[in-house]
Amino acid sequence: MTTDLELAPPHPAVAEPGPGEAFTDHMVVMDWTEADGWSAPRLSRLADLSLHPGTLGLHYGQVVFEGLKAHRRADGTAGVWRPRDHALRFRGSCRRMAMPELPEDAFTDAAHRLVRADEGFLPADGSRSLYLRPLMFGSDASLMLRPSRTYRFLLMAFVTGGFFGDGAEPVAVHVSRDHVRAVPGGTGEVKVAGNYAPTFLAQRAAEAAGCRQVVWLDAVERRWVEELGGMNLFLVRGRGERAEVVTPELTRTLLPGVTRSTLLTLARRLGHRVVEERIALDEWRAQCEAGVVTEAFACGTWAVVTPVGRVRDGDGGWTVGDGRPGPVTTALHRLLTDLHRGRVPDEDGWFHPSTR
Ligand SMILES: *Cc1c(COP(=O)(O)O)cnc(C)c1O
Repeated sequence: MTTDLELAPPHPAVAEPGPGEAFTDHMVVMDWTEADGWSAPRLSRLADLSLHPGTLGLHYGQVVFEGLKAHRRADGTAGVWRPRDHALRFRGSCRRMAMPELPEDAFTDAAHRLVRADEGFLPADGSRSLYLRPLMFGSDASLMLRPSRTYRFLLMAFVTGGFFGDGAEPVAVHVSRDHVRAVPGGTGEVKVAGNYAPTFLAQRAAEAAGCRQVVWLDAVERRWVEELGGMNLFLVRGRGERAEVVTPELTRTLLPGVTRSTLLTLARRLGHRVVEERIALDEWRAQCEAGVVTEAFACGTWAVVTPVGRVRDGDGGWTVGDGRPGPVTTALHRLLTDLHRGRVPDEDGWFHPSTR
């Protein structure tokens, strides 16, 4: 008789890693206790964790995360995009979940360490980036319904690129009428794990309707467009240099994307008027049909800038512009990827080198 349970790993080995599965070789780990605060960061090989079955974060969802990217610039430097903005948002997520806040310097230091260890995954031609995933969870072995007294921070990375590259095909998006993502007083404005699994059914319904992403409406009136599954939404009104770039204003039920903030700055720099306001779904439709809204696009760290060509709502729907990527979407996408690659001056200091 054996006393140890011989458990197979919960994840079968993947032969051909798909998007989000091509992990790099290393991870950074830090622990927090009430007595000692944060430990020094430890860089180690990426490996399975050993967790007590009663780990509090697994049961009660005391889990927060971030998503940021590292790029290789044309001059060979590898670095992280807007790490301090992600660190600040991470702190806000921790605060909302009654978790200890990780100082910005510890967050950015972990990111630079991982990029230095795994920069071999960033080819010189810039065709791939690293998606960095910081994660923090309550690590007490306790099923008491209260905040954990110990925490673990992990930083891992996977290789990404080319999924929505230049000339990306526009995606169709699907309005969810059955579910909502965020409610006033809830957690919509922070990146907490519990926000995502409840959206999987709506994502499945979107895919069954031939769409790539869910369009979320506000929970109270079911009228105002908030965002997409893991991306913020922009509309373009009018054409040419006079075109207005419009995005839903930050109510506390949508996620304040770093990419959203970047694109607001870049759109202004390209000479557009930018508007943050409430956008009603029926106005989005009416303004597309009247030719006022000429383009729509989704944006986020993972997907960068992705044109939206069609909106489906129940049995109906509408096309945005001519359904093709529009000139404003394309110009913003190009400018952002040029900045990532260091092909245009980084006036805002958004790129933080990890190597030199
Ligand atoms: C992460 C995320 C975004 C995009 O934020 P970025 O900082 O631009 O990556 C948008 N919406 C949701 C729900 C998200 O989780």
